Amino acid sequence: MKVREHPERHRSPEAGRHVAVIGAGAVGSATAIEALRAGLRVTVIEPGEPGAEHATSYGNAGWLSSHSVVPPALPGAWRKVPGWLADPLGPLAVRWRHLPRAAPWLLRYLLSGSTEARVQRTADALRTLLVDAPQLHQHLAREAGVPQLIEHRGLLHVYRSQAEFMGDALGWRVRERTGVRWVQWEAAQLRAHEPDLDERYTLGIFVAEAGHCRDPGAYVAALARHAVQQGAQRVVARATGFRIEGGRLRGVRTDHGEIACDAAAICAGAHSAGLARAAGSPVPLESERGYHVMVGAPGVGPRTPMMAADGKLIAHWMDGGLRAAGQVEIGGLDAAPDWRRADILYRHLRSMFPALPRDAQAAGVRHWLGHRPSMPDGLPCIGPAAATPDVVLAFGHGHVGLGGSARTGRLAAQLLAGQTPETPLAPFDPQRFGRRRAAA
Ligand SMILES: Cc1cc2nc3c(=O)[nH]c(=O)nc-3n(C[C@H](O)[C@H](O)[C@H](O)COP(=O)(O)OP(=O)(O)OC[C@H]3O[C@@H](n4cnc5c(N)ncnc54)[C@H](O)[C@@H]3O)c2cc1C
Repeated sequence: MKVREHPERHRSPEAGRHVAVIGAGAVGSATAIEALRAGLRVTVIEPGEPGAEHATSYGNAGWLSSHSVVPPALPGAWRKVPGWLADPLGPLAVRWRHLPRAAPWLLRYLLSGSTEARVQRTADALRTLLVDAPQLHQHLAREAGVPQLIEHRGLLHVYRSQAEFMGDALGWRVRERTGVRWVQWEAAQLRAHEPDLDERYTLGIFVAEAGHCRDPGAYVAALARHAVQQGAQRVVARATGFRIEGGRLRGVRTDHGEIACDAAAICAGAHSAGLARAAGSPVPLESERGYHVMVGAPGVGPRTPMMAADGKLIAHWMDGGLRAAGQVEIGGLDAAPDWRRADILYRHLRSMFPALPRDAQAAGVRHWLGHRPSMPDGLPCIGPAAATPDVVLAFGHGHVGLGGSARTGRLAAQLLAGQTPETPLAPFDPQRFGRRRAAA
């Protein structure tokens, strides 16, 4: 296939270098666009249809939450875990067969959020990735011809009481120190803004700076299409490894043969661990499995995309209907979906909006399972591989990969192009776990 040159602007010291972007989810598609902008020649390797149901970027909650800087495990979480696991409606589940493999990751996960200072460090780093996520995505969406998919109208957290809000006080304190601002809505104000919301919610925290995406699948598909229109070559294949000689990348191996190239970015989301290992950087990547339910046109729901603190789910309008997304299930990449987790989401959603149909099946509720690519310290891996700086790792964004993809794409492209990254990358260093400890 003929490869068109991208316009001259932002050309870099490595302009013309041929880079392979592995994976066309939100992160890979943004990376491909930014690499083209830097004057690189780009081949995107992706076995599926970009933005389709197999990708985590398809079914997420669509939050472009510049304030989502607090990792899920906070001090004292280990005390709550048994209760969550015992609660059939709880937000966390572990597939016991997977536990021996996941135990080291889970321990690190709890440890990384074990003190406020650690949480603050994570938050400060994540903020650098997310701070202008809505604006960056608006820009990308405009370029890709889908400006209507990104909205910048704020996001809402709802609580049942002041006491429940105080239970999240640490998180809000940490967010405030990173520069996040919000307004508090008392019961009457919340009611006025959210007339369909159950009256047990009496407090709202409205974060005006955040945004959301009306259809993440369609958005990622549009970004991937835009990359091709800008000159990227698309190869339908699965990357399996690398040919590295004398510390330089010579090619990416795929199930359809080798693709000769000078550099590569691993953007395969939750499926990145094997490729990272092949590039000399074993990393403790785990899937935090999550679910969504979609209700066609229920006629009731939130006016602002919202997260309920009690059910830990996000309810949000998409172009295809009302979506509730959430749940964390530690069960690996291969176990079959447990649709009871999705049913729990619908029960929570209905308890937030009691006018929704009681019978999910009759209401035509659709289910989806996805794999959050999660590192135990809540920070993605963005940086060169140990075996060669020609391979860049760009994955592991856990709960914030849609929001964080725009900045990550820029950073990965800057590395591939031999430019100085615009944001310090030390917190995201793929080698931060140490080779041996990561492999364990
Ligand atoms: C229920 C749920 C709700 C969420 N809500 C939000 C939210 O509101 N906001 C937010 O920011 N994030 C959210 N997330 C997280 C977000 O969806 C992910 O972090 C993000 O989609 C990860 O993007 P990605 O491009 O890294 O991975 P993916 O979207 O999974 O893309 C990876 C791509 O790589 C391809 N691939 C895999 N292996 C190979 C290979 N060997 N060779 C070539 N290609 C390969 C795959 O086919 C896929 O297309 C949520 C996740 C879940 C599950």
